[in-house]
Amino acid sequence: MGNAYLEKVLNDVSKKNSNEPEFVQAVDEVLSTLEKVIDKHPEYQKIAMLERVVEPERLVSFRVPWVDDKGQVQVNRGYRVQFNGVLGPYKGGLRFHPSVNQSIMKFLAFEQIFKNALTCLPIGGGKGGSDFDPKGKSDDEIMRFCQSFMNELQRHIGADVDVPAGDIGVGAREIGYLFGQYRKIKNIYEAGVLTGKGLDYGGSLARKEATGYGLIYFMREMLKANGRTIKGKTVSVSGSGNVAIYACEKAQEYGANVVAMSDSNGCIYAPNGIKLDVVKEIKEEQRLRIKEYLKYDSSAQYFETTDRPKIWEIKVDIALPCATQNEIDLESAKKLVANGVMAVGEGANMPTNKEAIEYFLSNNVLLAPAKAANAGGVATSALEMSQNSMRYFWTFDEVNEKLDRIMTNIFEQCQKAAQEYGLGTNYVAGANIAAFRKIAKAMRSQGII
Ligand code: NDP
Repeated sequence: MGNAYLEKVLNDVSKKNSNEPEFVQAVDEVLSTLEKVIDKHPEYQKIAMLERVVEPERLVSFRVPWVDDKGQVQVNRGYRVQFNGVLGPYKGGLRFHPSVNQSIMKFLAFEQIFKNALTCLPIGGGKGGSDFDPKGKSDDEIMRFCQSFMNELQRHIGADVDVPAGDIGVGAREIGYLFGQYRKIKNIYEAGVLTGKGLDYGGSLARKEATGYGLIYFMREMLKANGRTIKGKTVSVSGSGNVAIYACEKAQEYGANVVAMSDSNGCIYAPNGIKLDVVKEIKEEQRLRIKEYLKYDSSAQYFETTDRPKIWEIKVDIALPCATQNEIDLESAKKLVANGVMAVGEGANMPTNKEAIEYFLSNNVLLAPAKAANAGGVATSALEMSQNSMRYFWTFDEVNEKLDRIMTNIFEQCQKAAQEYGLGTNYVAGANIAAFRKIAKAMRSQGII
């Protein structure tokens, strides 16, 4: 890194958070693209702009005791990171997954600040969750866990304070239990305190589809700007959860042939095209493993995950990582490039590690960065908050149109910033620069806080 101030801050972050590799990775990924912006603003050093951007405003960690179906008390750890509220109430999902720890929470909350800035909606950055594993738990156990989690979380959130939503392991069912417990404790119908709610009690149409659809809207714009289209392309989508399913749906609607999807156990390869209704039945209804797909499509094959996801070995034009962080490393990136991949769209948060990002960019692969490309979910969450405030609802088409406009605008911001700084089609840097400028400007306006 050529800028001494940037280098110092990054070194300090690495030292101070040496046991938080994902957080350090996320900070490194952003700071390493900001050199020219920081060169332009030497005054930022005096007001410790970067030191403040990389330090959460607040982080709470708490005990979550709950009783399982056998009557045994279990204890998990809960988190909420309120990273930066300069643009609006903290906003970001809750993740329930055994891998959750402080590093993962902080990386997600940090990324969320930039993503939310790009939506141009008034929302700050936060994230939360627990190391609770919802897999294999009964409905009653999920409810008791969510209630206990909310017993503490309710002290820290509010429609104008901090508004959580879903993420890995937290869908409409969990949001329902969390909202019920919040309402019970607070004795107030504060619909805007959580998003991703059921449609019958304040949820927004198109929220469920928003992250996946938004990813494809961004991809459409990115390809268009480079003289290409989605139509007729072969696509792989990792994961088979909320983001993956609706990315697949919109890509198919645009005429792509989606040939692969996965879960944490393995991937299916369906050369004639994924039958999405089957995936929805297996994942959204039955909550089973993706391998079950073989029962419904005799031409499909299944590959077990061993040391790294097999899905990236499949030849495609467009790869959409929509499962989890660091799912594409350099080796996987090399396989994708060798097989002629033309574009990668990050549906998951930080799915591509730094070496893989650099490899894609240096091989002229168009890369749609997560902060920009998967912002459709949080943007639609903000639209849900707007509808809750108005005590009104918009139709599916109305929300979807707004989402499309927001995603198109996000792409334009990334493109403009990349052009302004002579970075060509490096939309990774474009996204970071566009978001950082907005955050820094607001932080300067609000003084040293
Ligand atoms: P879901 O829980 O609905 O689905 C996650 C999917 O990814 C599942 O298929 C899961 O498989 C797979 N997966 C999870 N962890 C791993 C792992 N360690 N290795 C391999 N596969 C894994 O989550 P979402 O679809 O909501 O979220 C997916 C990603 O998108 C996350 O990075 C999330 O932060 C990001 N995101 C989500 C948004 C949203 O609106 N939901 C908004 C913006 C970003 P299995 O069932 O086997 O665990």
